[in-house]
Amino acid sequence: MFFLLRIQTFVRFMRGNCPQTILTDLDPGLRDAIQTDLPATKHVISVWNILSKVYSWFFQPLGSRFAEFKSEFDTLCRLETTEEFELQWNQMISVFRFNADKHIVLLYSFRSSWAPSYTRGYLLARMATTVYSKSVDGFLKGIFNAQTCLRSFFEQVSISANFQNQARPEMQYMYTKTCIPIEEHARSILTPFVFNEFQHELALSMQYATSEMANGSYIVRHFKKMDGERLVIWVPEDEQIHCSCKEFESSGLLCRHALRVFIVKNYFQLPEKYYLNRWRRESSLVFYEENGTQHSNDDWIPEFQCLMENLFAESSITRERSDYARSELTKQVARILNEVGNMPEAEGVAMDVTLSPNG
Ligand SMILES: [Zn+2]
Repeated sequence: MFFLLRIQTFVRFMRGNCPQTILTDLDPGLRDAIQTDLPATKHVISVWNILSKVYSWFFQPLGSRFAEFKSEFDTLCRLETTEEFELQWNQMISVFRFNADKHIVLLYSFRSSWAPSYTRGYLLARMATTVYSKSVDGFLKGIFNAQTCLRSFFEQVSISANFQNQARPEMQYMYTKTCIPIEEHARSILTPFVFNEFQHELALSMQYATSEMANGSYIVRHFKKMDGERLVIWVPEDEQIHCSCKEFESSGLLCRHALRVFIVKNYFQLPEKYYLNRWRRESSLVFYEENGTQHSNDDWIPEFQCLMENLFAESSITRERSDYARSELTKQVARILNEVGNMPEAEGVAMDVTLSPNG
């Protein structure tokens, strides 16, 4: 009942539009409410959320066999098809004699929500990845405590979002990494975060060979790996592309296999429909500061912007650097925000916040 009312309020708030996908924690009550009120919505639980429970549930009963179990469980999370999942799951149950374990029963009953072989192809926009889940978790832990009220929570989120918007108006840290015209075009459209992901796939696409089939589709293979070939279906009439890895359907970003086919077909720009609105710079939230830029004449802001530009330039060189910088920055900024928010609003000598005539 508790969840049902909240979901109904959420749907009303969305003017009756139900989401395609909903990401939640593992909770049977929540699942039942979603099945009742959002029957057409795919319910997904991040694998990270599941993996974070695996240790506490199975370490003690398994003892020295836990590492072997964890390795089997990780393999389950990498399988592509539901048939492979079912087979591997049954093997795991019999090897570890888990038939009556309540947590195993719970995990199995939720498998269509957390196992990637069941969730692949549903739009998650990269929000179920471990990196994203950890970053959200870290951010929330940084701004939440037992005394945090809902209003303060929204204020903190808003301040953090505005901070990120302020810090990214320049394109100078979005370096191109290839000479492929598609990359230059994508740079003018995508937000920095998504461009970085796109760039990664585009660079890797050069490691794949294509073979055209009689019906106009392509088999795409990595130059080293003999297995894992992908079928890319190409429909020329309306420039549709579908890859068997279902990356575009899952994340809204084209995979390396589909990009390879676009390159082979001499595309210099991707069709517009492959740049989803949610990933476009023009659709991202624009920062509008109320009351003008009343503190912009403070000396520390340009100095800080300069530091941030250097940080973005250095961080964008590798994915590892960028992930680290993003995670640390989010944590530290959330911590400072918390501390600043707890400081008194009035001080002995009032800060001069008037704008200079040419400020
Ligand atoms: Zn693909």
